[in-house]
Amino acid sequence: IRILAIESSCDETAAAVVENGRTVRSNVIYSQIATHTLYGGVVPEIASRAHIEKINQVTAQALTDAGLTLAEIDAIGVTYGPGLVGPLLIGVSAAKAMAFAAGKPLIGVNHIEGHVSANFIANPDLKPPFLCLIVSGGHTNLVMVEDYGKFRILGQTRDDAAGEAFDKVARSVGLGYPGGPKIDRKAREGNPDAISFPRAKVAGSPYDFSFSGLKSAVLNYQNHAKMTGEEIPVADLVASFQKAVVEVLVSHTMEAARDFNCKTIAMAGGVAANSALREAMRLACEAAGYTLTYPELGLCTDNAAMIGSAAYYEYCAGRRSGWDLNAVPNLKLGER
Ligand code: ATP
Ligand code: MG
Ligand code: FE
Repeated sequence: IRILAIESSCDETAAAVVENGRTVRSNVIYSQIATHTLYGGVVPEIASRAHIEKINQVTAQALTDAGLTLAEIDAIGVTYGPGLVGPLLIGVSAAKAMAFAAGKPLIGVNHIEGHVSANFIANPDLKPPFLCLIVSGGHTNLVMVEDYGKFRILGQTRDDAAGEAFDKVARSVGLGYPGGPKIDRKAREGNPDAISFPRAKVAGSPYDFSFSGLKSAVLNYQNHAKMTGEEIPVADLVASFQKAVVEVLVSHTMEAARDFNCKTIAMAGGVAANSALREAMRLACEAAGYTLTYPELGLCTDNAAMIGSAAYYEYCAGRRSGWDLNAVPNLKLGER
């Protein structure tokens, strides 16, 4: 089964062809980062326009790279939420038009379910059940993937998402947008034990996260340094911040794995590309004898291959979308 997948929930216009949910035949991503960098973040209106300009070219390229025509595709999958409403509508409209014109089934996909599914591409042996740490720009969830498309949410963030915390801290020290990769690189020059930052625990909810206190501590540290005229040690600061985030993510995941006796762990979302997180999780899983999977760097951040994988399992479950498929900006995980 070959699926043409489209992703346009934020600032990447992406299309891919995925075979049987696991094999990537093509994966085209047009990133708008250069455009949005001027504004220090994604401007929804500008993103929508850029999606309109690129969507046809990107989908055509995905077919060409796969060496296939639209007629040879079995279904079209598209992200319909969560994300920005304008950008989502571009992808949904394009997918509907192509599916209708070519007489192919249409499958609406949850973007976060897509992030999780990137692991099926990364590891051909990975099968539910497994525990997945989802850490993206807008989400931080610890979930039990009970079956394909079936999730049990164990924990979530009470305030900022992990990626959001990276982006805000990066902006505060002048590293620019998007902050995650810049902090990752800068932290390598710093001492992660230089500054002691809080590791938040949410009372009564062992798997929940909170990053706003940590973010405030980073800002307070800078304000204090400015008042006393001290120079801000940017590398040490971001390395210490990163270590605080990574420690909490790893310890919560390990605790859930123990409590639920789950020996297979996966990571998903843009922050899963973080080198310190990948290394710390790898060491923790090695010590505990757990199997760990994470996507290659390019499949952690937004892409359409992951949507093609998720769409395949929806297809196998017999789920199809109608021509009334609409964008759902605040779609929740496991919701249809
Ligand atoms: P969501 O998936 O929740 O809708 P999104 O699509 O914007 O949000 P992703 O594409 O999954 O998020 O990931 C982008 C986020 O990942 C950004 O916050 C970015 O800073 C972060 N990120 C990317 N690479 C790294 C890295 N190496 N280290 C830390 N964070 C990173
Ligand atoms: Mg993006
Ligand atoms: Fe995403």
